[in-house]
Amino acid sequence: MTLQQASTREWSATSDGADLRAMRTFDVVNPSTGQVFAQAPDIHPDQLDEVFTGAHTAFLKWRTDDDFRRERMRRAAAVIEDHAAALAPVLTMEQGKPVADSTREFLGSARWLRYYADLEVPRQVIRDDAEAYEEVFHRPLGVVSAITPWNFPITLAMWKIAPALRAGNTLVVKPSPYTPLATLALGELLRGILPDGVLNIVTGLDALGAGMVSHPVPRKVSFTGSTTVGKKVALGAAPALKRVTLELGGNDPAIVLPDVDVDEIAPRLFWNAFGNNGQICVAVKRVYAHESVRPRLVEALGELARSVKVGDGFDEGVRLGPVNNRPQLDHVAALVDEATGRGARVVAGGQTLGGDGYFYAPTVLDGVDDTFRVVAEEQFGPVLPVLSYRDEDDAIRRANDSVYGLTASVWSADLDHAARIAERMDSGQVGINAHARGMLPHLPFGGHKWSGVGVENGPWGLYSFTELQVIVGPPRVGR
Ligand code: NAD
Repeated sequence: MTLQQASTREWSATSDGADLRAMRTFDVVNPSTGQVFAQAPDIHPDQLDEVFTGAHTAFLKWRTDDDFRRERMRRAAAVIEDHAAALAPVLTMEQGKPVADSTREFLGSARWLRYYADLEVPRQVIRDDAEAYEEVFHRPLGVVSAITPWNFPITLAMWKIAPALRAGNTLVVKPSPYTPLATLALGELLRGILPDGVLNIVTGLDALGAGMVSHPVPRKVSFTGSTTVGKKVALGAAPALKRVTLELGGNDPAIVLPDVDVDEIAPRLFWNAFGNNGQICVAVKRVYAHESVRPRLVEALGELARSVKVGDGFDEGVRLGPVNNRPQLDHVAALVDEATGRGARVVAGGQTLGGDGYFYAPTVLDGVDDTFRVVAEEQFGPVLPVLSYRDEDDAIRRANDSVYGLTASVWSADLDHAARIAERMDSGQVGINAHARGMLPHLPFGGHKWSGVGVENGPWGLYSFTELQVIVGPPRVGR
């Protein structure tokens, strides 16, 4: 889809397999230009009754036929694969990431659908003998409200859609108002492949998300976003005891031991921090480097930061696009300004790149300590502070001294030693010589502490869209 097409076409929500019209629209901005380029439907919370009613009706049938669900999920995966290249530009226009990354995002979402379509979810017969019959199985919950952020709109929606559908639920999905279009396009694409009402996509402002939490129909809210909003979601879900999965913020540490080959690890560490412009919940957000390797590491990261081409995601050779939105750009700039104001050394970057787009130079900071905001808070942008340590226990303590606990990593030539440190990290996943390598369909992903509640992915992620039922009865043997 071209910019012209995205700008002139009418975007529509999907409810019950058809267009859902909104009375109003809201602006969608291209972060590479700072210009409004499209209008998205501003679905009013009052319209949710209609959407949830359709989703509930669809649930009653969708839940009944597991083989049909698997077949439809495979067809959905194939259609997404076929259209990934055509849809990727829409994601780049609204999110900013390079178009190759957008294509990968769509293709990755198909991989999740295939994984869950193939996953066996057996009913477990615990006992079946002359005295008793006991069986445990997973029942779908019903309608799920799924709410997503702007950094990976398609990936993060699919981490909810695929397991929820496989388990027999139906969904109403709301993307961030900063990135509504790619998810709307996904909803349109899957009409007719998934039965009407099974996958509904609505867009609107934050109040619509709150309405999706408080509405009486959904039995579960699966939320990915900030910790601040996640807490509101938990409160909103509490009166009706809705199930929640919350995937929230992070401030991921990487601990670099003195035995590393700095030049060998620096590029990987760099991309684990700056991929998607640092706008990844599981980006490396602070590095604790042993004092013997820190000076060389800082320079190597700085060289990489200066060498990366930043620009419009449609331009040749661009590896990093803009920051997604103006408030986020201001947040990143404020953290860097506070650090430099307190004497941090800017090894690379340190400022916006000018123009109307929300571009910020990849920034490496030296001479900071744990009290700097850029270290203590989630920056969620292209900035990496590098800190020094002498004593390993001290590094572990400081790395763990955060309200967050999403992922972490340990970098060392001694894998056994690294693994022992990994076990001491208070986070949901710990990578060794790589960060967030476990973002895979079959591995559970979820945060400790304020980084979340529950997990996504793997069978565990699917189970979170179910509740257990036990059936016990007299012996069936010899009936
Ligand atoms: P956000 O919390 O501002 O918004 C997320 C979503 O919640 C949006 O769709 C928004 O419209 C909606 N929303 C806002 N107020 C709401 C309310 N009261 N009730 C219900 N929904 C509401 O987050 P963001 O700025 O879009 O995303 C960035 C944050 O997301 C970062 O903190 C990042 O770490 C986090 N994140 C976490 C993960 C993870 O898996 N742990 C993944 C990606 C992003």
